[in-house]
Amino acid sequence: MTSVSDNLTRIRSTLPAEGVTLVAVSKFHPAEAILEAYGAGQRVFGESRVQELLEKIPQLPDDISWHFIGHLQTNKVRQLIGHTAMIESVDSERLLRLIDRESARAGVVTRVLMQLHVAQEETKFGFTPDELLDFFRSRGFESLTNTHICGVMGMASNTDDEARVRADFAEIARVFHAIADDEALGLRGFDTISMGMSHDYLQAIDCGSTTVRIGTDIFGNRQY
Ligand SMILES: *Cc1c(COP(=O)(O)O)cnc(C)c1O
Repeated sequence: MTSVSDNLTRIRSTLPAEGVTLVAVSKFHPAEAILEAYGAGQRVFGESRVQELLEKIPQLPDDISWHFIGHLQTNKVRQLIGHTAMIESVDSERLLRLIDRESARAGVVTRVLMQLHVAQEETKFGFTPDELLDFFRSRGFESLTNTHICGVMGMASNTDDEARVRADFAEIARVFHAIADDEALGLRGFDTISMGMSHDYLQAIDCGSTTVRIGTDIFGNRQY
């Protein structure tokens, strides 16, 4: 078995010299594994469960940037606010409004990504491309006071069909650009396309990803 630091070195060697952020997805892995990655220079980690994240934070260095990447239940929002560098998985307008309200209450600005659903699987959360475009065109973001929408996050279909995977990533990038390049919207700092996981991150980068979320290739298989 290769070490976490060897895995990180190998993965970094496959990333472009700049422009792509690596989120090390540490869900279901213990603090020791995260520390090993930290020792190899990794500072951005991804977690998908609020309780697990809140337990890990006090055990680990405080210059870690935590990205929340899982489905966020509305009853957990208050606990999470103030503890993340970014919530990547905003999958409904209701959740967005709640994040904004709780961020105002806590006196913080929360950075978020809007989660797009383009994959075949029906169980995944997120906005359809049309829903997200409608949200921006109807200027649904204007009333937000304490939330900064930084871009989009999405997953490709879980399939060996490489053409399908590329089509999904291209669709995520298309929706991103339809929003980011629309000058009438006047968005600032809308610059992040988070897509690509262990098995498909190279295709995602080809399709314009700026943030890849890699777990298994760094930490090995998860013990659920
Ligand atoms: C678990 C997870 C990942 C990492 O997946 P790997 O296949 O282990 O790289 C990436 N993104 C999201 C949203 C996840 O839940």
